[in-house]
Amino acid sequence: MKQKRLTCFLVLSFVIFSLFGCSGDVANTTFEQTNEIIFETTSVEATMMEPESILPETENSTIYDTEEETTTSPEPVFQELTVHFIDVGQGDCTLIICGDETMLIDAGDNNQGTKIQNYLQHEGISKLKYVVCTHPDADHIGGMDVILYKFDCETIFMTDEEKDTATYRDVIDTLENKIYKKTLPVVGEQYRLGDAEFTILAPSQMREDSNNNSVALMMTHGKNTFLFTGDAEEDEESDIVKLDLPAGIDVYKTGHHGSKSSSSEELLNAITPKYAVISCGEGNKYGHPHAQTLNNFRMMGIQVFRTDEQGTIVASSNGKEITWNCSPSTSWIAGEPVGTKEESSEPAPESEATQQTETQAAIDVPPTVVEETNPPASVTYICNMNTKKFHYPICSSVDQMKETNKLEVNLSRDEVIAQGYVPCKRCNP
Ligand SMILES: [Zn+2]
Ligand SMILES: [Zn+2]
Repeated sequence: MKQKRLTCFLVLSFVIFSLFGCSGDVANTTFEQTNEIIFETTSVEATMMEPESILPETENSTIYDTEEETTTSPEPVFQELTVHFIDVGQGDCTLIICGDETMLIDAGDNNQGTKIQNYLQHEGISKLKYVVCTHPDADHIGGMDVILYKFDCETIFMTDEEKDTATYRDVIDTLENKIYKKTLPVVGEQYRLGDAEFTILAPSQMREDSNNNSVALMMTHGKNTFLFTGDAEEDEESDIVKLDLPAGIDVYKTGHHGSKSSSSEELLNAITPKYAVISCGEGNKYGHPHAQTLNNFRMMGIQVFRTDEQGTIVASSNGKEITWNCSPSTSWIAGEPVGTKEESSEPAPESEATQQTETQAAIDVPPTVVEETNPPASVTYICNMNTKKFHYPICSSVDQMKETNKLEVNLSRDEVIAQGYVPCKRCNP
């Protein structure tokens, strides 16, 4: 029996061997197929690498993306992220929407609260997952009391910096009335907004001036990145640069309204932005944006959007590309500073004016236009005890006034004048 089986096996083996041995075609086909399979495996691996190659940027958002539907396709599909640089005149207000989740960074000046409220409601927003008060200057938190009051706000980022102004107190009072707690921004902490995420970048230390204590953050949505720095100036920008941000930020929300004290070359060289958005008021007295800033942007080939020329600007990200609701500005017109930084409506100091003409961007500077914003319904005048001038609270001069000189009154115009104050020539109270 054993021998029979062995013979059978040998015969079979021989037949099989002869078949393969004699038929070169079969052998070749097998060889080719083997190679093909290996090649195919490699090619599958190669395509699999594509999503992996963007993983460093999307890894976290993918991991934290628990609530939203995930797709099985190798290409990650992102919800739309829209960033609305709302035109609030001289000030800042950025609304970010990703999926169902929303975030507001700053809320313009005191007279902008209702306008922002309307904008948000028009977008169908009733609650804000995150609210960021970058710093307590009026052109950033002025309308925030309205927003905190009207919307359900989940996490409210604010530093510990206090400011002795009615604007600041209004915000704090509203926080207390609504039993909201503020969240201290901690550098390096990450938060998710839809399938985007953001990282707190600053402040890492508290300085004397408010602007350099601005909350700064980077929003990442797939391959797209957005940087928001509030009014951070060179000192704080330098702290941010030390964090080794990824080069090639897509959208840089220009610090301090395009002032030359911000957007330092150090920062620009570190982040090499593709786009810069400047939020400032038409004809603002500070001369924002500054010619030097515009020149730097121009030299670096950065496309510029500005709310003073284009109104509200909306950037949309699909995780790969960014599209805009308008074309970039091509005017390269710098703002014209009027009045000194101190508050008067005197002509700009020589040095400022000289710097303006020295830089090439300041071509065709438009005539100074006093921004005719409607004063708030319940007017509280702001008096400058030093210059003896009085202003509407929305006057751009107020933001630059020394706190020690500032006096807020709830009097009629005649009563203020009776106290020896003269109306500001800028806001004509
Ligand atoms: Zn500021
Ligand atoms: Zn500001």
